[in-house]
Amino acid sequence: MTFAVIPHSSPMSPDQRAALLENPGFGRIFTDHMVTLKWTADLGWHDGKVAARAPFQLDPACAVLHYSQEIFEGMKAYRTQDGQITLFRPEENARRFAESADRMAMPRLPENLFLEAVEALVQIDRDWIPDGEGSLYLRPFMFASEAFLGVRPAAEYIFCVIACPVGAYFKGGAKPVTVWVSDSYTRAASGGTGAAKCGGNYAASLIAQAEASRHGCDQVVFLDAAEHRWIEELGGMNIFFVMDDGSLLTPPLGGTILPGITRNSIIALARQAGLTVVEQPYSFESWRADAASGRVRETFACGTAAVVAAIGEVRFEGGSFQIADAGTGPVTSRLRDELVGIQRGTVPDQAGWLHRLR
Ligand SMILES: *Cc1c(COP(=O)(O)O)cnc(C)c1O
Repeated sequence: MTFAVIPHSSPMSPDQRAALLENPGFGRIFTDHMVTLKWTADLGWHDGKVAARAPFQLDPACAVLHYSQEIFEGMKAYRTQDGQITLFRPEENARRFAESADRMAMPRLPENLFLEAVEALVQIDRDWIPDGEGSLYLRPFMFASEAFLGVRPAAEYIFCVIACPVGAYFKGGAKPVTVWVSDSYTRAASGGTGAAKCGGNYAASLIAQAEASRHGCDQVVFLDAAEHRWIEELGGMNIFFVMDDGSLLTPPLGGTILPGITRNSIIALARQAGLTVVEQPYSFESWRADAASGRVRETFACGTAAVVAAIGEVRFEGGSFQIADAGTGPVTSRLRDELVGIQRGTVPDQAGWLHRLR
């Protein structure tokens, strides 16, 4: 065991916990423990602990506060109907975390240590996994902790995992979302950090998200940085189009799009169901014209938090359009139900995506 376990001396009582689990929302309620692991240039990874969740004490010169060397992951633990605890493709999160670290000039966390850390937290806080449609959202992250204002990769890092119980993302079934297509802001440029899951990408997207909210939209759709023409993805979700010939289209990964594990899973499930999936650039003008002509039947966004969300309406500076009847289409529903079913153990896991905790 790489992680010393120091259980919380006064964890939340079962009654208090049950009250919080009634309506957990997203990202405000946290479990009793956290995992921490340190890295220094001389010792490498060391001092792994599972202990009571507590604030960090940071020097004001802590590098992350100045130059934003920070990466994270988002994944979920589920309790299946037969009482087992599962993670969905956690090896993919471990691998992506290492790739994000490379891009941000941070040390790679060995993938087995990432998995061990996540499992250790789920194990000790297993009573926090909601029943029914909820899940335990896990947030592994790493940041530069060295107190130094010089501009270079830091020589000290902290890796941490925290967890929060979450309810069904959309209460009362998934309602289609309205999206804003920003023509003033972009998310990622060629050669930039678009494919890394780093906090900085989110910081840069918040102003566009605020613009979307001002226009009554739930999410932003970003276009490419070079031509402001090609559809890339949402602030934290990938995008798919269902065409009238039954095929699926999604923008290709090319360094500016985050390689979503949900995206990858949807492509695999769709192909297994006999659908054609093309990863091909698709312009905003085409989307608009194809929505009007009926060539685009459905559009959906996907990511760990919401899994799959239909896009019903699209707004942009000077206009708006609907996708079909602005509801959730049949292909979107089928893919969503299948993926959620696999994650929850009610649909056979043919690809071996579920990782069971002992
Ligand atoms: C995390 C994330 C996604 C979705 O990835 P999943 O692995 O499916 O959760 C998509 N886009 C961005 C920008 C992200 O940060």
